[in-house]
Amino acid sequence: MNEITAQHRIAHEPYYRPVADEVALFEAAYGAQMPVMLKGPTGCGKTRFVEHMAWRLGKPLVTVACNEDMTASDLVGRFLLDASGTRWQDGPLTFAARHGAICYLDEVVEARQDTTVVIHPLTDNRRVLPLEKKGELLRAHPDFHLVISYNPGYQSLMKDLKQSTKQRFGALDFSYPDHAVEVEIVAHEAGVDARTADKLVSIAERARNLKGHGLDEGISTRMLVHAGSLIAQGVAPVPACQMALVRPITDDPDMRDALDAAVTTFF
Ligand code: ADP
Repeated sequence: MNEITAQHRIAHEPYYRPVADEVALFEAAYGAQMPVMLKGPTGCGKTRFVEHMAWRLGKPLVTVACNEDMTASDLVGRFLLDASGTRWQDGPLTFAARHGAICYLDEVVEARQDTTVVIHPLTDNRRVLPLEKKGELLRAHPDFHLVISYNPGYQSLMKDLKQSTKQRFGALDFSYPDHAVEVEIVAHEAGVDARTADKLVSIAERARNLKGHGLDEGISTRMLVHAGSLIAQGVAPVPACQMALVRPITDDPDMRDALDAAVTTFF
């Protein structure tokens, strides 16, 4: 990664339906150079929101899907061997800090804590990143902004962000939108009519009540968009819902029956 390319620039406005005052709050946090944590379950619009905000602010976006095998070097960079010798390659975090991009670390809690701490000097008023192997102290570009996502449902004692990490961020809560807003999102994204979207959202609301009673996570907006997209492709609503809403989230026969019943109540 050496220069900002078209892939980092968001040319067209990503559709994002605001749910509360998150757009204004994010803009204020950006202006104040305050790193932002987006908290909420999977599939409720966090990634779309960051893409929209990068477009709105006219900044490039660098996204990193975090995982437990990720090392600090994966974020910061490393020396590579090539025909002409060794060459330093910036990792995505360094790249974003150098060029003034928004860096989105998705599901940061998946990374090990010794990896996560590399963001610390970037997230206080020093705004620096020590590249120890390279012997460089990188000062972050004024436009650089760090955003992380965090799903409070997945945490265990073994796997959580340190308080010293959390306290560096301002946090915005994301959850499933209100009924009418979610209907609007599903209709727009899947290309189905409002009546169909309304039924899909109603099924999800029933299923979300089962969270913690046999379901680990509720049916997300993303899954509703999937179901709607199948319907828009000509699939009948019941098999579309079974494929996109029910089968992915549970293997338990009783839970499947309960969810299938919710589907047939509305379709
Ligand atoms: P997350 O990052 O929270 O896991 P995403 O941002 O990928 O979730 O959202 C999943 C999908 O749900 C998006 O691709 C989009 O179609 C839809 N979506 C959810 N919330 C919104 C919203 N507020 N505005 C527009 N689309 C949304």
